[in-house]
Amino acid sequence: MVFRLLRPDAERAWKHPEILRRFSRYRGIIEGTRIARYLLAKSIKCSFNETNSLEDLLLEFKTKTKKFRDILRKEGEISELGNEKEHSYIALAERIANEYLKSCNFCERRCGANRSEGEKGFCLVPKDAFISSAFLHYGEESVLVPSGTIFFQGCNFACCFCQNYDISQAWKKRYPIEEVAQKVSGNTLANLAEKLCNNGALNINYVGGDPIPNIHVILNSLRYQSKNICQLWNSNFYLTEESLSLILDLMDFWLPDFKYGNNDCAKKYSGIENYYDVITRNLKIIHDVGSGEIIIRHLVMPNHVECCSIPILDYIAKEVPKCVVNIMAQYRPVYHAFNHTEINRRPTSEELQKVKQHAKLLGILFEPVS
Ligand code: SF4
Repeated sequence: MVFRLLRPDAERAWKHPEILRRFSRYRGIIEGTRIARYLLAKSIKCSFNETNSLEDLLLEFKTKTKKFRDILRKEGEISELGNEKEHSYIALAERIANEYLKSCNFCERRCGANRSEGEKGFCLVPKDAFISSAFLHYGEESVLVPSGTIFFQGCNFACCFCQNYDISQAWKKRYPIEEVAQKVSGNTLANLAEKLCNNGALNINYVGGDPIPNIHVILNSLRYQSKNICQLWNSNFYLTEESLSLILDLMDFWLPDFKYGNNDCAKKYSGIENYYDVITRNLKIIHDVGSGEIIIRHLVMPNHVECCSIPILDYIAKEVPKCVVNIMAQYRPVYHAFNHTEINRRPTSEELQKVKQHAKLLGILFEPVS
């Protein structure tokens, strides 16, 4: 792949020694010296069939996870990649995801809807995946652009200030998802990803709405993709441990939101239980066990510096210090934010400065991507 740096701030960011060090594998994939994890996963043949119970499948998955991590450690010694189709590590993850779909536990709402039989849970995403658009995105963090971004319709959150409310939730009370978005199979998704890659994308960026309700289709698409391109998970990160385990080894780069520094604010503005506990648990997993190449997005909200921004930064500095943070200033009161006077304005420059000063004090790396 040709290494293109189209934005001057990207060039500056890559000159930062810590960015190069922390995102070395991502950079290697872009330059063709490293191999995307999902391609390595195609070397692993798993043993399973249609009659296996979920318990059997999980046992096999656990064994093959160990094998995958061995292969990952020996990546430099690989001379030829395998291309297992029907029984690869990815196919096994997809098979397990399809079992979970019968009583959906993809996110911590744990609706238990039998989506494989047409039931819908809170997100209202059925068995199939629906996308609103897919294009080369130049508005993501400097080191990520151009990003081959795929926007999924629907979300498991209900943020009253959602900046993407048209695709995440505004349609929910008015139209079925089939009328507002395009249905995609795994194969179609793979074709889209390959096209984005051919057009110069540095990564395939699964976002929405949120990609979480579509894990099974994304896994299916990885079976058809073949380009050595970084796979990137861009999400509210309210995954269950079960669903996170299915993509943990396959994603090269993580772009999680970290919105709230406590459970109460999350409940009030996003209708979510145990937010802080779930997000910190998942961040620790991707930091310690996953690729560890992470940009955390923190949207600074008005009147939420003390209760949210400061505790979030404190947590990051202490528990997930390899993460780079994008301190985002673009909050504006949209959708139903006007129902809450305290967030019905933009953050002030004093609030933003305070958050940045605190990040600096803690030694958090944020400037190259904020
Ligand atoms: S992904 Fe959707 S259906 Fe599944 S648990 Fe989450 S909100 Fe419920």
